[in-house]
Amino acid sequence: MTTSEVSDEDFQEILAQTRHFVRTAVVPREQEILADDRVPDDLREQAKKMGLFGYAIPQEWGGLGLNLAQDVELAMELGYTSLALRSMFGTNNGIAGQVLVGFGTDEQKSRWLEPMATGDVVASFALTEPGAGSNPSGLRTKAVRDGSEDDADWIINGQKRFITNAPTANLFVVFARTRPADDKGAGIAVFLVPADTDGVVVGAKDAKMGQEGAWTSDVSFDDVRVPASALIGGSEDIGYRAAMTSLARGRVHIAALAVGTAQRALDESVAYAATATQGGTPIGNFQLVQAMIADQQTGVLAGRALVRDTAKLWVSGEDRRIAPSAAKLFCTEMVGQVADLAVQIHGGSGYMREVPVERIYRDVRLLRLYEGTSEIQRLIIGGNLVKAAQRESK
Ligand SMILES: Cc1cc2nc3c(=O)[nH]c(=O)nc-3n(C[C@H](O)[C@H](O)[C@H](O)COP(=O)(O)OP(=O)(O)OC[C@H]3O[C@@H](n4cnc5c(N)ncnc54)[C@H](O)[C@@H]3O)c2cc1C
Repeated sequence: MTTSEVSDEDFQEILAQTRHFVRTAVVPREQEILADDRVPDDLREQAKKMGLFGYAIPQEWGGLGLNLAQDVELAMELGYTSLALRSMFGTNNGIAGQVLVGFGTDEQKSRWLEPMATGDVVASFALTEPGAGSNPSGLRTKAVRDGSEDDADWIINGQKRFITNAPTANLFVVFARTRPADDKGAGIAVFLVPADTDGVVVGAKDAKMGQEGAWTSDVSFDDVRVPASALIGGSEDIGYRAAMTSLARGRVHIAALAVGTAQRALDESVAYAATATQGGTPIGNFQLVQAMIADQQTGVLAGRALVRDTAKLWVSGEDRRIAPSAAKLFCTEMVGQVADLAVQIHGGSGYMREVPVERIYRDVRLLRLYEGTSEIQRLIIGGNLVKAAQRESK
């Protein structure tokens, strides 16, 4: 494994424990999570004890310190069950946590990362707004200094939507414009806003298509006053870069999650095909059913190889832009197809709520939408390749 705080031996232990937890404690309770739209408290407690709220937070700040090559192995295990489980600690380790890890001051890290790593604090990443999703540079949330001194408070006003974990969050990592974009930068800063600050209003839970147990909602900021020390990295120009870096890393993780879920859909399909019969013949004996299984297996193997390769390129620093987008694009589209085939293999049963592939079909639809839609991944890949060629030809 490339440079990590965690030895291969220790990591194999963490991976085995996670696999055991997912398969023996969470898989049997998927229907409960779905029906209650909630991850049960005892599973949350177990995840806390295992360090899962901070597996990607450095050890110095109380986390397990896994690097991205290790993160993707864990994500492939977590993807095997209700995606709500991963979502519960996904923002602490991923989009919100990595903004702090990568761009926070030591003071900000020591204040927040430790309670995030233990799961005592849930952090949410608040970037998306109505009219500013695929294009976050169009965001309209504003942060204005209350005075001219460097240590003056900031006043934040604006509206965010679809914010994962907002209903349970203790901390919002909020992106806001401090000035129009200019030669110095995008004019987007990022702030640490405790959820109990006056003027922070968390809306009702959204009613979603899938991922029951994972909650999102609107969050509005109405004259929210935060001290100068809430500005991440102490700089007004960090926000856009912090968001893009954190999202690019998150894309590799989401790709791995997709591979884990595709593996589950495949396993469910093979088990069903081997035993369910038509006219006394197991449906898995029909070659057209075998062809569907073959396409699923091929997708899983290709996705897994791509994810591992991409994570290595991230850790070594060789490619933190094109490969993450390619991995997310391929793996999230792949799991959509694999889940669709899984429903097809199950016939009418595949359309029934109590069957895991019905949940999977709905759960994975989100993966092609958030942390950059498939269209945005294509724009990043194609756009960067063409720009690089144009630079070289000059
Ligand atoms: C369940 C859920 C959880 C989420 N969690 C979070 C979170 O925690 N924090 C957060 O900040 N956000 C979160 N989001 C928001 C998510 O990242 C956005 O919904 C996503 O980026 C798409 O933005 P949009 O919804 O505004 O759609 P739009 O950007 O309006 O996209 C609509 C369609 O237009 C296409 N499109 C847009 N621009 C272009 C273009 N330039 N070229 C070609 N096609 C284009 C898109 O690909 C898409 O097909 C979440 C969303 C959901 C549904």
